[in-house]
Amino acid sequence: MSKLGKVLQQLIYESDKHMTAEEIFLLCKEKELKISLASVYRVLNTLVDEGHIRKVSISDGSDVFDKSTEDHGHLVCSCCKKVTDVYIEDFKLILSQLTGKEVDSYHLNMEYICEECNSRKEKKNGKQIRRN
Ligand SMILES: [Zn+2]
Ligand SMILES: [Zn+2]
Repeated sequence: MSKLGKVLQQLIYESDKHMTAEEIFLLCKEKELKISLASVYRVLNTLVDEGHIRKVSISDGSDVFDKSTEDHGHLVCSCCKKVTDVYIEDFKLILSQLTGKEVDSYHLNMEYICEECNSRKEKKNGKQIRRN
């Protein structure tokens, strides 16, 4: 693995979030690493190709990078795009039984509205009611 690959992998492993390439780029800047956004993209894609990390596509959002390469699904807030891991026991087995095929891997995104976005919405609605 390249030196930059090791550095970026370390950043991802230390974070408890699923970060976009832009967020990883900003983190590099914070740590005063000299790397361009284009290089961040290139190195991240190499790490994905080599199986060190996983790329998760978010609808209407940027791809995020995941330190866990184990099979799992994601809860995605359709409002703020926050991503939470969901581990479903025996899900591959269930899928195999459903399809009658031996399922090797799966990508599962579930959309919801997170608690913060929900309460923000309620506050907003509350104000509107008071104004009327
Ligand atoms: Zn949210
Ligand atoms: Zn994940």
